[in-house]
Amino acid sequence: GWFSEKDRSKKMADVTIDLMDADSIEATETVDATDERLIALSDRGFLAEVLGFETKEIAKTAKGTQVHTLSGLDLIDFTAGIAVHACGHGAEEIVEAVTRQAARIMHTSDVMLHAPQLQLGAALTELAECILPGSPWQTLLLNSGSESIDAAAKLVLKATGRSKIIAFEGAFHGRTLFASALSRSKSLHWNAYEAFLAPLRANILHAPAPRCSGCELSRDICCANGLEALLDAHNDEIAAVFFEPVQGEGGYYPMSSTAARRIREITRERGILLIADEIQSGIGRTGKWFAFQHLGIDPDIIVFGKAVGGGLPLAGILARKDLMEKWTPGEHGTTFGGNPLACAAGFAAMKIIERDGLIENALQMGARIHEKLSPLIGSHGVADVRGRGLMMAIELRDSAGNPDYARCESVKLKCREKGLLLLTCGAKTGNPRTDSANIRIIPPLNVTLETMDNALSILTSSLAE
Ligand code: PMP
Repeated sequence: GWFSEKDRSKKMADVTIDLMDADSIEATETVDATDERLIALSDRGFLAEVLGFETKEIAKTAKGTQVHTLSGLDLIDFTAGIAVHACGHGAEEIVEAVTRQAARIMHTSDVMLHAPQLQLGAALTELAECILPGSPWQTLLLNSGSESIDAAAKLVLKATGRSKIIAFEGAFHGRTLFASALSRSKSLHWNAYEAFLAPLRANILHAPAPRCSGCELSRDICCANGLEALLDAHNDEIAAVFFEPVQGEGGYYPMSSTAARRIREITRERGILLIADEIQSGIGRTGKWFAFQHLGIDPDIIVFGKAVGGGLPLAGILARKDLMEKWTPGEHGTTFGGNPLACAAGFAAMKIIERDGLIENALQMGARIHEKLSPLIGSHGVADVRGRGLMMAIELRDSAGNPDYARCESVKLKCREKGLLLLTCGAKTGNPRTDSANIRIIPPLNVTLETMDNALSILTSSLAE
């Protein structure tokens, strides 16, 4: 066994006592004895470190943009759980919707439909039909972004009968083996698995990274021209092209509408499906429901995740009904996908986003970030301020023009000392055309001007220091 019976009862007693006492959900100013025991528990290394937690702080309670930790810190959360909390932490209507649903039914799996899935499915389908009218759409609800990327790939392989898929350098599409093979943002994510991935590599091709600011379509490194060359070489074999309308983990690079329109044109001409990965950029984050709307194009499949679950695990794909129907019923499935609690939370979140004008607020707050941070370009290593809406980043380069990953880390830590929680992003692949080091700014979409200015002043002073 993994430990002897004697040890087991001792260890279980130890942990159980700690956890049983940890039932206070009120944020308190002081650190009580239970908090101290939980902090000690976290030091005992029970959890795998592969997830690379940003901080050893333990979240206790959160409301809006504020997170209160067990050690008594109050942090302004400009990570929003990696672009998940569109309505901020603990939005009352979301909490109520989840609580109400939990008392009704918590799980049915693919065995039976339930109200929240029907409601959220209808909302997402109608949203797609409203943005991209014509023939009807359908929604498939799953669990995670990565899983939904895999599902989109299965659908296009089935629908086209073709065998190859294209993505872009610098892309991040997730962590399953297929999504890891498709991704090109950090070599750490795929290097160790290359021997296994080799056969898959023959069917996954990468076009140059969309680095559209300053990129001319005539240049041979252009993403659209590079894609066209790949299509010329493998024409009849390509099922689909995955793209992020704003490349996310790869460095918050918005694709230009010129490149996107060209990509749509050449894929359509050849009957190749276009898949927008909106997992991070979707559900209002960039100042539109979906970021592809900024580009004036119509993808064939939209993959969504993160914010769609209102803070609970939920993701999935939208596709036109005739495309979705290429799948035989039962050919794909999920135990937990479209879970009642997650759908109830997601439906409540969509209603708040619409009613409270959060998409408009994302645009206004994004403009505020530009206004306050763009003047810094050229000082403190700031090379660029870019993004759309509240999917914004500030890029740092060293004096030789190389991505300054170390400075990003130290500015991020300095901000945290001052009470602002931030994340970094940027590709690290060894390809200078793809790579960059950035601090990202992804607060909840309902962030107020006061909190925004407060956070930006912490960021600005940390950069100067
Ligand atoms: N695609 C994009 C664009 C993402 O940003 C992410 C997550 N950062 C994923 C896919 C993977 O999503 P998940 O972590 O839910 O599997």
